[in-house]
Amino acid sequence: MSQRYFVPDLIGHPSVALTDDEAHHAAGVMRVKPGATLTLFDGQNNEAQATVESVSRKRVECRIDEIGEVDRESPRMLLIAVALPKGDRARSVIEKAVELGAHGFVPIVCRRSVARPSDGQRKRLERYVIDASKQCGRNRLMQIAPAIAWSEFVTADTSALFDGTTIDPLADVQRIVADPTGVSADPSGQHPVLFAVGPEGGFDPEEIESALEAGWSTISLGPRILRVETAVGALLAIAQ
Ligand code: SAM
Repeated sequence: MSQRYFVPDLIGHPSVALTDDEAHHAAGVMRVKPGATLTLFDGQNNEAQATVESVSRKRVECRIDEIGEVDRESPRMLLIAVALPKGDRARSVIEKAVELGAHGFVPIVCRRSVARPSDGQRKRLERYVIDASKQCGRNRLMQIAPAIAWSEFVTADTSALFDGTTIDPLADVQRIVADPTGVSADPSGQHPVLFAVGPEGGFDPEEIESALEAGWSTISLGPRILRVETAVGALLAIAQ
């Protein structure tokens, strides 16, 4: 696979330009030259092969040679809510969620959360999504919902969190709990599944209580305590 770059508006253009972070990555870091072949994706499942025509520090012009839909999505709709750790570990959680095919990601804020959402956080998480998608060949961007307090999320109408995604999280969690492999309970893989992973200090007992009252179920991933990023990877892998 050639180097991949994200261009949000690909369809219907004979040529496009990499700008901002993508131009910096291509021109400044990877030192692409005119004539190089790149793979471009728009985050909506379209992928193009393109030839670099000109390079400046802030703009890399590319001619589209071939374009089409290329689907590397998981057939199962996977949604995950996570109390994110700080810094590089947050990036690692997002990378694992993207690589393992999560469709939507909800940053949750729990009583024992160490990281508090800031204005810049969602933008930063979206940047991690793009970087991970470039690396793993994913052509559809995992959606990041606005951060939400766990106390609100357990009873929220989660269908409004993701554009165009109607989910019934409680039924979905019950379905996966009925069969943790999810296979016999939902052989078609049509139904979305929503998981939640708590903060480094764990969910507070009252937070677990309110979730159980709202109809959530708990799942054990075994007798050892997993780091947040490991729990995210394990849940998503099992759910596929
Ligand atoms: N001291 C905390 C506790 O005992 O809950 C550890 C929390 S763990 C580092 C972070 C999160 O990962 C937990 O809130 C839980 O959602 C998930 N997790 C970690 N290990 C798990 C396991 N063995 N089974 C189920 N969930 C697990």
